[in-house]
Amino acid sequence: MNARFDKPAKKHLGQNFLHERGVIDKILLAVNPKPGDRIVEIGPGQGALTLPLLDLHGEATAIEFDRDLLLPLTEAASARGKLDLINRDVMQVDFTELARALGGPIRLIGNLPYNLSSPILFHALDHATSIIDMHFMLQKEVVDRMAASEGSKVYGRLSVMLQAYCKVTPLIKVPPGAFRPAPKVDSAVVRLVPKPASEITVRDHARFVEVVRSAFGQRRKTLHNALKDVCNDDAIRAAGLEPQLRAEQVPVAGFIALANISD
Ligand code: SAM
Repeated sequence: MNARFDKPAKKHLGQNFLHERGVIDKILLAVNPKPGDRIVEIGPGQGALTLPLLDLHGEATAIEFDRDLLLPLTEAASARGKLDLINRDVMQVDFTELARALGGPIRLIGNLPYNLSSPILFHALDHATSIIDMHFMLQKEVVDRMAASEGSKVYGRLSVMLQAYCKVTPLIKVPPGAFRPAPKVDSAVVRLVPKPASEITVRDHARFVEVVRSAFGQRRKTLHNALKDVCNDDAIRAAGLEPQLRAEQVPVAGFIALANISD
């Protein structure tokens, strides 16, 4: 008997399976795999993206935590292409090592478990030099925050941290009905392209994290108040900023300048 995807979706693993063929096609069109691309999928689930990707590209690597999905997914994939399935928590996967094992930088894709999306994003950023690009489905609200500019209500730590290191492009809005079970919120697909080292102007990552975290820790406060323990008004002015500004008014380049000046 063939193995089947007969277990109910597991909420704690963020399992909302995509079934809308039109959305799947749009994602694969956006990814546009080229021969030789090393595509690594996070959370293949029942193969909604994986199987059409194999049809198109012939091979892929996928990282899935849920053991119950391994056998049916392996069987479903066998007729479609070469799937290398890794049964691990993606947070434990060293993408730099994986890229080395696969022979070069990787392209990440995934309809991410929403409860883990920020940790996965930051984990991927830690390995940005081994990653060519990422195409992720996330909650639309998270994508809005990632892509926001200063002055927007949703501009915050996530916007600044991601935009300092990546080009962020929202691509496709996806309604709840495209998934089973349907999530309560809208989703969106975003493309992230890590900047080459020559374009990254952050000098000290840890210092940058500290400045951004403190500035947005109390987002209604002025830089003067929020950054009291981190840097003084002279440093704020030297970065071309006014101490009376609030974090949400400061562009990404302003935070980078401030962290670089006061490191
Ligand atoms: N890609 C499939 C689709 O589009 O229908 C499934 C997407 S579902 C939103 C998220 C997938 O991530 C599930 O298959 C879930 O089991 C898997 N997952 C959840 N936590 C994970 C983790 N820590 N590491 C790897 N996979 C995980």
